[in-house]
Amino acid sequence: MTKPNIRDTGYYSYRLGSLPKGCKLCVRGEKLVLFITGLCNRDCFYCPLSDEKKNRDVVYANEWNTGFSGGTLTEEETNTILKEARLCDAKGAGVTGGDPLLVLDRTVEVIRKLKKEFGEDFHVHLYTTPENVTEERLEKLFKAGLDEIRFHPLVWDDRCWDRIDLAKKFNWSVGVEIPAILGYEEQTKKLIDFLEGRIGFLNINELELADTKANKLLEMGYKAKNDESYGVSGSEELALSLMEYVREKGYSFRVHYCTCRLKDAVQMKQRILRRAGNVAQKFDKITEDGMLVRGAIYLPELKPGFGYRKKLMELSRDEREKILSDLMEAKNRLIWDRMFRGDELVVDDFKLRLLASRRSVKKLRKRLKKIGLAPALVEEYPTRDSLEVDVEFL
Ligand code: SF4
Repeated sequence: MTKPNIRDTGYYSYRLGSLPKGCKLCVRGEKLVLFITGLCNRDCFYCPLSDEKKNRDVVYANEWNTGFSGGTLTEEETNTILKEARLCDAKGAGVTGGDPLLVLDRTVEVIRKLKKEFGEDFHVHLYTTPENVTEERLEKLFKAGLDEIRFHPLVWDDRCWDRIDLAKKFNWSVGVEIPAILGYEEQTKKLIDFLEGRIGFLNINELELADTKANKLLEMGYKAKNDESYGVSGSEELALSLMEYVREKGYSFRVHYCTCRLKDAVQMKQRILRRAGNVAQKFDKITEDGMLVRGAIYLPELKPGFGYRKKLMELSRDEREKILSDLMEAKNRLIWDRMFRGDELVVDDFKLRLLASRRSVKKLRKRLKKIGLAPALVEEYPTRDSLEVDVEFL
């Protein structure tokens, strides 16, 4: 039998055999990234989690912090997850963490709700560590409708590797996902040998540097491959040599090597473009990269600048209500003064400002400033956090 070749996917990644379904949807930006908890029993030195998420029991749907702070998900928090999936026209979800198995009931409940809302074809995959796997837990996930499970074993510790076999009892797609870690080539090959006959696919990720407490790679001497990338120098070469190893051995499972560039330049960009089309106001311009360019009118005490995000996040419910009522008042005044028509001004209840067209904000800047408002032209992500790329006060 001829051995398949390693092929460029066209998405800054390589494959040996076809891509797993979870990856096919992900590269098109069609997957909701559902971060179900930051809790994890492990302390991997290459952990990519941010300080806001690592070991914190928080739930994010893409960039949207649902506000979950313990217990079971409220109806409002669940609706946030479903809403974000709708805003991105998601065709599936990747449930990640932390380790979703540490909050199994929550994970099962959300998978059920996603399937109920979007139908059986809504493809759900999940990442977990073999350490927390039992047959009973897997059965709950399978019954909830999970389509694809991806194990992340430690390459240097084989004690729990055989738990991956428990997943074979269920009719779903089973894979392993690991980073290509320099210095661990032999251990990784040993794992690869072990996986033959046990899994359908292997995903190898480019090792990522992160400026976080959890990620120890920089202090351990790992280096970025260039100034623009957070991929570790040498990780790609190792990943490709591991793919070649699988090919030469003639192993039966498929392999996908996924780069940092794929995540940023393909997956994230596609997801952003999908969301931009759904959240843009009629007066916004959408750039090629999916950014929103718009006019914004800020209250002087809540203008972007030093400490802006922290200030926004720390507002109490009552304070937000008060600011929203001030914004409504400002909007009504601007309409009353015939500066804008009613449909030309939108109250942004997340960033607590008014939105309008760039043209009108530019034209009316002097009058807006005269009544104590702060007009600006902004370019920002269409994600829930509306991260600013550029703010130009007028
Ligand atoms: S990389 Fe994954 S398994 Fe390892 S500590 Fe981070 S969240 Fe846990």
